[in-house]
Amino acid sequence: MAVAIVALLFLTLAGALTIPFAFESPSMWYKFGMEKVSLRTGKILGLTAGLLILLQLPLAGRLKFLDRIFSLPGLIRQHRMHAWAIVILALVHPLCVLLPEGKLIVPLEMRYWPEWIGVGLLVVILSQFVVSQWRQSMGIAFHTWMWFHRIAGLLIASLLIVHVLYVSETFTDQGPPRLAVFIAAGIFLMFWLWIRSSWPRVRYKPYVVTRIQSTGADCTCVELTPSQQPPFAYIPGQFAYVSFRSASVSKEPHAFTLSSTPSRPDGLQFTIRASGDWTHTVGDLSIGDRAFIQGPFGRFSHLYTDPDRELIMIAGGIGITPMLSMLRFMADHGDPRPVTLIWRNRSKENVVFADEMADLAAKLTGLRMIPIFTRNAEGGSGPADWIAIRWILCSVIAVAARRSFYAAHHR
Ligand SMILES: Cc1cc2nc3c(=O)[nH]c(=O)nc-3n(C[C@H](O)[C@H](O)[C@H](O)COP(=O)(O)OP(=O)(O)OC[C@H]3O[C@@H](n4cnc5c(N)ncnc54)[C@H](O)[C@@H]3O)c2cc1C
Repeated sequence: MAVAIVALLFLTLAGALTIPFAFESPSMWYKFGMEKVSLRTGKILGLTAGLLILLQLPLAGRLKFLDRIFSLPGLIRQHRMHAWAIVILALVHPLCVLLPEGKLIVPLEMRYWPEWIGVGLLVVILSQFVVSQWRQSMGIAFHTWMWFHRIAGLLIASLLIVHVLYVSETFTDQGPPRLAVFIAAGIFLMFWLWIRSSWPRVRYKPYVVTRIQSTGADCTCVELTPSQQPPFAYIPGQFAYVSFRSASVSKEPHAFTLSSTPSRPDGLQFTIRASGDWTHTVGDLSIGDRAFIQGPFGRFSHLYTDPDRELIMIAGGIGITPMLSMLRFMADHGDPRPVTLIWRNRSKENVVFADEMADLAAKLTGLRMIPIFTRNAEGGSGPADWIAIRWILCSVIAVAARRSFYAAHHR
């Protein structure tokens, strides 16, 4: 399926790139040599940037069917990488198109309005890119940035479609290129409507906070039970976006791993470390507060690995939550496979579910835990971090050596 989707994308791109060859605009008829090459290259770059821009909505839109194939974190990584490509293409495109015309600045005349739309588009793309890359240094909160990011994304797509439809005779005349733009805009609109309706759909399935418990330093474990609907279907290691309706916690959705296991379907559990303004308020939730969950997402699960192979899990602090879910699941299923868990925490006080982890180590015969603490006895960090890094490296090398030994002797 993944291959089919990627192939379809490349075919669409190839189809789009034939347009500057098969449907030359009159401006191209009177250009020769390098000027023609430059103009055509500019159009190719512009069309590639345009397709990439429209692709960002399904990439970052938290679509479940794409998550199952590619995994949402992988799609978000692609989205971040595409941003660089879009910026470079969008900067080079006007240079290639304008240089053969002998100008570098669009004249301030009414007839050039589609070009000015293009200038506006470039400004919004660059602002979107700069703010996204340097949001934290600019002191912009994630949820404020996300709100503007979505509006700017929609503005970029709208400006792009108007720009393409009116900037060149290739697209202003009725014909296959214009039709292709309308089809692309229609598909984009369908994705947008589907994504926009995802939270209203989620609201039909409310959850209720049934337990709030402190675990480890700065950590709150929140348990949720479905109101009326059947249990939430997920696999260990997956995450979801959670939004609470509470007097003390704002309702913006945040991503958290389900630290519970689907083998105990009575409720869902999220283990949340206070790391910023929103997570610091989670401890103020009350029993009976409502919650909505969008997901599950992700393919980070032992269920996607070969059941006969040893697992090596490396976790830092609260990053243990997916492993906790997997270990609980494995313990409930009496999974005997060898597991090495390297878990780094600042100090013993930071360890979440310390007693349960000890129980899991007793139940799972194949589990070997390597705890690492980066704070030294006096509470300072310093050399202890280096000790931890050396420990992690030595452990990974030891486990890898053991795996290759087993692989060689069990062939
Ligand atoms: C897939 C995934 C699984 C996670 N699982 C856990 C977990 O099990 N336990 C846990 O304690 N933390 C988990 N986190 C981290 C958690 O999402 C952030 O710590 C939390 O959203 C921080 O919010 P804040 O406003 O308190 O902090 P801030 O200081 O405002 O934000 C810190 C960082 O968190 C991210 N973030 C902030 N708001 C959001 C948001 N609305 N949506 C998505 N990301 C946001 C941004 O990268 C931001 O830079 C997970 C994150 C991801 C992506």
